[in-house]
Amino acid sequence: MTVLHNKVSRQLLREQLMKEDFRRVTLSFYRYFYVDDVQALRDALYLKWSALGCLGRIYIAREGINAQMSVPEHEMEAFTAHLYSVEGLAEVPLKIAVEDDGRSFIKLNVKIRAKLVADGLAEGSFDVTNVGTHLTAEEFNRAMDLPGAVVVDMRNHYESEVGRFEGAVCPDADTFRDELPMVAQILEGKEEQPVLLYCTGGIRCEKASAYLRHKGFSQVHQLHGGIIDYVRQVRTQNLPNRFLGKNFVFDDRMGERISEHILAVCHQCGQPCDEHVNCANTACHHLFIQCGACGATFNGCCSAACQAVLEAHPFNQTNPVSSDMPTTAAQLTTMAQLTAVAQPIAAPQPKVYRKGRPPGRTDVAAPHAVHPT
Ligand SMILES: [Zn+2]
Ligand SMILES: [Zn+2]
Repeated sequence: MTVLHNKVSRQLLREQLMKEDFRRVTLSFYRYFYVDDVQALRDALYLKWSALGCLGRIYIAREGINAQMSVPEHEMEAFTAHLYSVEGLAEVPLKIAVEDDGRSFIKLNVKIRAKLVADGLAEGSFDVTNVGTHLTAEEFNRAMDLPGAVVVDMRNHYESEVGRFEGAVCPDADTFRDELPMVAQILEGKEEQPVLLYCTGGIRCEKASAYLRHKGFSQVHQLHGGIIDYVRQVRTQNLPNRFLGKNFVFDDRMGERISEHILAVCHQCGQPCDEHVNCANTACHHLFIQCGACGATFNGCCSAACQAVLEAHPFNQTNPVSSDMPTTAAQLTTMAQLTAVAQPIAAPQPKVYRKGRPPGRTDVAAPHAVHPT
């Protein structure tokens, strides 16, 4: 296999980036389409994009592409012209990050993955390109009022726990893989009713809509651009907001408040609260909801057991940072924004354990190990 990747050290790459005298545009895009020769597409894109000076993290699978990247401003025209000329990528919508300094990536990484969003299904078991109808925020609001309409949250339980659309069905799923069959089962008998799917940035619904159509649902719709873009449209077009609570995002904020509603409760005392934290005992790192008072009582831990560990080994609590993770605050913020927009498959994110598992167990794979969700 040809080795087409960057071998310069991270330090040097970062210095090079800082010395650039041009601006970069940070953008993301994804599309489900059949890729015949994954390796060939990967190499072709890598060659073209490195020639243009593009940086970023891109995943290619047999089922399509998911990209977060930065492109030198003066190469944007050449970049889009080439991108749209790639078979299957004509007019793929690009999401441009607005508040960004363009320094979010230091190298170009184009990786091959089995799937864009891990669904646990055999390849080719349904046509991922046979998707439902895309709805704008306004159309989604209107469709919610259609007779028999069912709104389905395609995110994981800890995401819908703190925020969701009015009346949405929120499957109690740890992963997208678990969620697909669960949703088909919940919706059984409603094959002829309008089904309205939504997720954070749209990529999960894209696949879910194709799956449900494959399962015989005739009126499948999905919120285009997900909650992120719904909120943007609601704000810019002054539409009624029907998303309650917080939009969970995979970054340090762990959620953006959309409405004043507090939908969740503290997992320790039951008081209304929607603040996600990771257990302060890094050996546990369990993601849960904790109020300020319980945070003080348990020293940021999920249990008395973890608190005892934390207090016995206060100096052994540094969080290992993988070399692939962004290191500066600016990088973290931008990565977070992109993660939220495009749902990449391997961005840094909080480690999550399955519900009901005793804290501290490490034999359980984090649900997001492969994709976020
Ligand atoms: Zn509490
Ligand atoms: Zn813990």
